Amino acid sequence: MQLFVNSKAAGHFSGHHPWILDRSIIEPTHRPEPGQIVELVTAKGGWIGRGVYNPHSRIRVRLYQWNQRQSLDAAWIESQLQQAIDLRRHWMDRHHQLDAVRWVNSEGDGLSGLIVDQFGDHLVVQLTARAMQVWEPVLVEWFQKQLSPEGIVVRIDANTAKAEGLEARDQWVIGAAPNGPFEINENGVQLRLDFAKGQKTGYYLDQRANRRRAAAWMGSGPMLDVCCYLAGFSLAAHSVVHPESITAVDSSSKVLEQAQVNAQLKAASIDFVQADCFDYLTELVDSSQTFETVVLDPPRMASSHGSVHASLRSYHRLNLSAVRLLRPGGILVTCSCSGRVSRSDFSGMLAAIAGRTGRNIQIIENLGADFDHPIMAQCPESEYLKCLICRVS
Ligand code: SAH
Repeated sequence: MQLFVNSKAAGHFSGHHPWILDRSIIEPTHRPEPGQIVELVTAKGGWIGRGVYNPHSRIRVRLYQWNQRQSLDAAWIESQLQQAIDLRRHWMDRHHQLDAVRWVNSEGDGLSGLIVDQFGDHLVVQLTARAMQVWEPVLVEWFQKQLSPEGIVVRIDANTAKAEGLEARDQWVIGAAPNGPFEINENGVQLRLDFAKGQKTGYYLDQRANRRRAAAWMGSGPMLDVCCYLAGFSLAAHSVVHPESITAVDSSSKVLEQAQVNAQLKAASIDFVQADCFDYLTELVDSSQTFETVVLDPPRMASSHGSVHASLRSYHRLNLSAVRLLRPGGILVTCSCSGRVSRSDFSGMLAAIAGRTGRNIQIIENLGADFDHPIMAQCPESEYLKCLICRVS
């Protein structure tokens, strides 16, 4: 079935962006079924691309192919999966093997809506689009054949379910959850996690290299880890510089329970605080506390184009507090995982804070997600993670 793009949007499709929004297409009288393969054409019938339709989503069509001679079938999906795992295997052959790795990174691997992480012998398949649910049996079978995992869990979180018209799921389609506690080794640090119940796929593998690099810049003065999740940054710091005190903050009590177990495993003394990061940082500033290191890793703030300004204001508020808490010469590790906030917007926000506080903020490392989270150039939003390591004098 062919769908026409409307005349206003017609000039916008030369860049091979995979997301076609509802406002860019002319809805036909007889709409395609959810999950149906469609071809996108211009008003004059010029071929644009092939993708999957979803009437429930604002991303009305996800495009996967821009070459008319290809066909969107199991063989094509398998070839994309093969390319994705070859890329990680290449890295691991040249560096070292990992017991936790992202095999498929959605748009970054040309498979918008599919994330596949491996933790030990288990795979977590996170579906973030209905389009990929269509291929679930194909990809489960392919991964089973290629990697022989003990178990595969398919996860669809509540937000995706709502946005894409799906049912939320945490379902073991092969095998079962590991018996008892499960640990991975990240940069030499043992981390216990529950990948079938934790946030997203269970752990934020995208920050793997950044945790190590950030720790290498830190001193042994007091550290504040804001939005700590399982305390990955705190434990990396503990294993490298042993800060004299670590305060780690998260709003979720469930997360903090798990983080506490990790701290105990490493005999790291960490003060865990359950609080909202905005309120807590304001309290610390008001009580004139100071730190040598502050890590800010808040959740995604901009989910749509319209919310970019509001999210920059939130980043500004958090980072302003962090700079005020830092001793001269201290290290700020500041992150944004909002794909719609650009790297230059993010560093511009820091420039505004430097102006306001009269402090110099030197960006010493301008980092993104680790190697197994490739970015697709034609989908700038796939460069969602910015991790800036700064010296604040
Ligand atoms: N730094 C972590 C990842 C952070 S993910 C790591 O290295 O793995 C974002 C975290 O922010 C989540 O754990 C979430 O529970 C927490 N969070 C969300 N909203 C928050 C808020 N308003 N205040 C504090 N923490 C929040």
